[in-house]
Amino acid sequence: MAVDIEMNLKDVQEKIQKAVVKADRNLQEVQLIAVTKTVEPEAMERAIELGVTHVGENKVQELTRKYEIIGDKVKWHMIGHLQKNKVKYIIDKVALIHSLDSYELADEIDKRAKQIGQVMQCLLQVNVSGEESKYGVEPKDVDELLHRISLLKHIEIVGLMTMAPYTDEPEEVRVFFKKLKQLSNDIKEKKIHNIKMHYLSMGMSNDFEVAIEEGASLVRIGSKIFGERNY
Ligand SMILES: *Cc1c(COP(=O)(O)O)cnc(C)c1O
Repeated sequence: MAVDIEMNLKDVQEKIQKAVVKADRNLQEVQLIAVTKTVEPEAMERAIELGVTHVGENKVQELTRKYEIIGDKVKWHMIGHLQKNKVKYIIDKVALIHSLDSYELADEIDKRAKQIGQVMQCLLQVNVSGEESKYGVEPKDVDELLHRISLLKHIEIVGLMTMAPYTDEPEEVRVFFKKLKQLSNDIKEKKIHNIKMHYLSMGMSNDFEVAIEEGASLVRIGSKIFGERNY
């Protein structure tokens, strides 16, 4: 059976709204990023017609291929692990890089952004769960890394991102969202030059409601909108 994107999207939006109310927050504080990895451009166009304004991709090649077709009528987010040598392909296409996880990558982004006369906004990806399979900086290394990155002029850190371990029981990962929020508050208090903590990118199809309750401002939702992925 074909996936009903309209119904799925409506369902997700209703759940976001409920979580926002439950957390006593404002709807404007939470931005839905429709994760379109493996989703064909036709289905993306459909989602855009239905009101999706932000899309997330985790692979550079896939992002650039679809960008050719869809263009800049939506805001593009790079949410997957990013290799240094591929920064040049996306630097002029994405609104936000969620997966900054090393000084070397920051340096390359800074260099490429400078070449096109821009400041690239990025989130620092933090591995708050300590899972070995996850990318991201360890919490203990965040402070030093941010101080180094803060000296780069063409990159601006605007928040943090994390991926919680996969679970069927969202309550199990609430603790990791709390940790990211706490870390963000700690960094804010340090008032590091050029480092802002406007956004928390956390929450996926399985756990976005809990993430919103814990302060998520960018939720990255794929399969709940487009159906299970076939790789
Ligand atoms: C695939 C992916 C998502 C979305 O996953 P779903 O469970 O399908 O919602 C979110 N964030 C990242 C980094 C991803 O790679």
